[in-house]
Amino acid sequence: MANQNPAELFRVKPHAKVKLRNWDTAWAATVPLRNLKGDELKQEARETIHRNLERLSNAQELLYASDRHGLLVVLQGMDASGKDGLVKHVMSGLNPQGCQVISFKRPSDEELEHDFLWRYTKALPPRGRIGIFNRSHYEDVLVVRVHPEWLDKQKLSYKGEHTFWEHRYEDINQFEKHLTRNGTVILKFFLHVSKKEQKRRLLERLDNPGKHWKFSAADLAERTFWADYVEAYEDALSATSTKHAPWFIIPADHKWVARVLVSDILRRTIEGLHLKIPELAEEQRIALAKAKKMLAGG
Ligand code: AMP
Ligand code: MG
Repeated sequence: MANQNPAELFRVKPHAKVKLRNWDTAWAATVPLRNLKGDELKQEARETIHRNLERLSNAQELLYASDRHGLLVVLQGMDASGKDGLVKHVMSGLNPQGCQVISFKRPSDEELEHDFLWRYTKALPPRGRIGIFNRSHYEDVLVVRVHPEWLDKQKLSYKGEHTFWEHRYEDINQFEKHLTRNGTVILKFFLHVSKKEQKRRLLERLDNPGKHWKFSAADLAERTFWADYVEAYEDALSATSTKHAPWFIIPADHKWVARVLVSDILRRTIEGLHLKIPELAEEQRIALAKAKKMLAGG
């Protein structure tokens, strides 16, 4: 992993036509990890995550101190694809003061009174901060596309036409362009899990009393729409991976692989901004010298 830039392997090139079956869900062939198996592999991955988080933490401090860019991290994926666990791991390496996580659920009545981007706009990270969207504005072209009857609540007429979704992709691309022009860096991750692995994880939630709380009957209902979700994801990923706001399709059958990759891409992106600790103006330097003198004197 050290020399390889995972960002390039997993980035969806602008205008690429995504077919998810061509993207591996169980990829684990990073350079130092390739020849390891089982516990050894897990241990090595843990160490890589740890190293990554340390560097990510430094990068975050620079982001905060330089106060130039906000970083918006969009996380999407099928149920049980590991979004919550990933947030927990990545967050463990960040300073809570410079970071916010928002988990989007079904919109409230108030939210439905507004345009679909309203609630996401309100939750954007300010300059200097990392904002993680655990689910995002993409739900409005994913779950809502699979269940278009939910548009009724927004009083939008939809007669099955494809242009409806194309307009939404267009709106999303414009929205993201607007944000990046105003200093927000955007990274979007699709946690790509196989249907088989989802089944294993949902069964685990049923079998393990400690995980019962995570089980939702709604997840089983949504699982029956798997093929519809795949199609909705393929269209959305194809239409909205842009130079300014790229998508990454992250192999997520191995949770630790997904965590290593995402923390690595975050770190590289912030480091790539070549930020600097702000230099002090002459009068600020004089004020500091004065303060030092005062403290020393009393
Ligand atoms: P979870 O991520 O398990 O907490 O579940 C959140 C639920 O909210 C998922 O079933 C999402 O599909 C749903 N959800 C999130 N955003 C929207 C949206 N804009 N419209 C409808 N449902 C949504
Ligand atoms: Mg859930």
